[in-house]
Amino acid sequence: MKEYDYLIVGAGLFGSVFAHEVSKRGKKCLVIDKRAHSGGNIHCEKIEGINVHKYGAHIFHTNDKDIWDYVNQFVEFNRYTNSPVAVYGGKIYNLPFNMNTFYQLWGVLTPDEAIKKIEEQVKNSGIKEPKNLEEQAISLVGIDIYEKLIKGYTEKQWGRKATELPAFIIKRLPVRFTYDNNYFNDKYQGIPIGGYNKLTEGLLNGIEVQLGVDFFADREKYESLCDKIIFTGKIDEYFNFEFGELEYRSLKFEHQILDQENFQGNAVVNYTEREIPFTRIIEHKHFEFGKQAKTVITHEFPLEWSSGMESYYPINDDSNSLKFKKYSDLAKKETNVYFGGRLAEYRYYDMHQIIASSLKLSKIC
Ligand code: FAD
Repeated sequence: MKEYDYLIVGAGLFGSVFAHEVSKRGKKCLVIDKRAHSGGNIHCEKIEGINVHKYGAHIFHTNDKDIWDYVNQFVEFNRYTNSPVAVYGGKIYNLPFNMNTFYQLWGVLTPDEAIKKIEEQVKNSGIKEPKNLEEQAISLVGIDIYEKLIKGYTEKQWGRKATELPAFIIKRLPVRFTYDNNYFNDKYQGIPIGGYNKLTEGLLNGIEVQLGVDFFADREKYESLCDKIIFTGKIDEYFNFEFGELEYRSLKFEHQILDQENFQGNAVVNYTEREIPFTRIIEHKHFEFGKQAKTVITHEFPLEWSSGMESYYPINDDSNSLKFKKYSDLAKKETNVYFGGRLAEYRYYDMHQIIASSLKLSKIC
């Protein structure tokens, strides 16, 4: 008889939901995380009374009422609606692309005028079979939206020219012919009142958590402690990088406290010019409608990833997908070890998807 039923490697959202669910069924869990805090990438740090999203802005959204009710049992969510704006050439444009944006770009007032403008530009481009991301974007929305709102931002994100990026990265570019700045189409969205840590604390309440502990520093000890392992770290690391390292895009966040109440009047402002090195500035207090005397802003810089850096976005190109396939074949052969979450599954997941996936696993193992 082992000391724990489950060892959960990673106290992020996936691990925390899993631990909560199986603990409810009377299972004994140990959750470990190599970071000094739980919550993984949704962790917030309180600075000047403001919940600062340390690993990038997180806005919860879902169409699934069960998932919405699930998170709201731990913390009430506010009615924050994500309505980012973009700055280009000293002018503000609303996102996602909608009638407000089309008015700002061309002075058009009606959906018919906007549709005509886009159709004209798409036709004039003469692009029939897009060979790269630039051609793909122009063939979908025309030159103006592409040049002002897509090109620079995308090139910064990927660290490559849009003409060197494959067309498939952009499958479709949603355009709305209504005056609607709500970024997400989902039925439910918001931010936990008091920050995401309340969600993690609620999930992990009463569960043994050890922080600052790397599974690989004492793998044998941890393996001997439990019947089953839920592994939410990097799958390639679990298998000793046998097929090489899976690659990511990284990010750098520069946080600043400003001695003013309101810096930019919106939580998310994108900078779409190539020459400006960051992609966006986040002003955290606006997620919770804060009225503090000071404000905290974060400049977000996309970064080339190299081994040892924070891994943010998986690069799902052919070479990495092939590598991942080999690792996931090995994972299937493991007995009593289950792999879940964004690092173990090497895919981008939104929070509601992580919760759904973790709930599913908790029911079957
Ligand atoms: P993580 O949060 O990464 O947790 C994994 C944990 O495992 C980490 O804490 C790590 O320290 C730990 N760990 C790894 N290896 C080991 C080891 N060897 N030993 C011990 N511990 C280990 N989703 C949304 O729904 N809305 C958003 O607005 C949104 N914005 C995002 C913005 C950015 C910049 C990024 C990158 C993601 C965003 N997401 C958003 C996605 C969201 O962050 C993820 O869905 C979620 O955090 C994934 O949870 P996870 O538990 O799988 O991974």
